[in-house]
Amino acid sequence: MMRLFTGPCPVCGGEEFSTCSVLWPQLINTWQLSEDEVAYIDRQQGFHCKQCGNNLRAMGLSRAIIKEYGFGATLNQFCESLSDVKLLEINAAGNLTSFFKKLSSHRLIEYPQFDMQNLDIESESVDLVVHSDTLEHVPNPERALSECRRILRGNGKCIFTVPIIVGRMTRSRVGLAPSYHGQSDVPADDQMVHTEFGADVWQTVLKAGFYSCEIFSLEYPSALIVIARK
Ligand SMILES: [Zn+2]
Repeated sequence: MMRLFTGPCPVCGGEEFSTCSVLWPQLINTWQLSEDEVAYIDRQQGFHCKQCGNNLRAMGLSRAIIKEYGFGATLNQFCESLSDVKLLEINAAGNLTSFFKKLSSHRLIEYPQFDMQNLDIESESVDLVVHSDTLEHVPNPERALSECRRILRGNGKCIFTVPIIVGRMTRSRVGLAPSYHGQSDVPADDQMVHTEFGADVWQTVLKAGFYSCEIFSLEYPSALIVIARK
């Protein structure tokens, strides 16, 4: 039986949630999602905290981060009290940036100024790399993850989300009709999907050189978080 996440919000402690559907027919068609897959992706992207606005995937990401550091409270309190963690955020992760900013050495880098496949960042200079639903938009996700690994210090980790369809394997969209995330009526190039991740997402992580890949579940299968350790 599936365990549903009921709060409180791991980001801000909020206890009121709201839900909206996010997917639209064209994306559902190009992604070839079944009815239950639509339901869990909609929940991942649309179920959100009314107080901080973060959705289920951002809440899962937050819970994975604070758990990884052995912290018992919210992400907000984590960022206020552990200010020496050097965190690199690649593209704004949900509505988490304003919380991450409380860490004094937090840095946000964004596409297209920064190409995840060739990061203009010193090797072994970061404790924690975070990105959320970015990797599926990068032409070579393995190369992007190996760049994340390169810039991490010895015991560093990369904690991230990608939409994972658990009942199938990862596939490249090369040669298939273009598929876009973002908004239904705005086919922006940086929202084009290059890879649809599946149950073998761990392979991309290990091929990129990480020692281990853990899948953390705030809620299965709608909030799965990848923890890659250097
Ligand atoms: Zn919240």
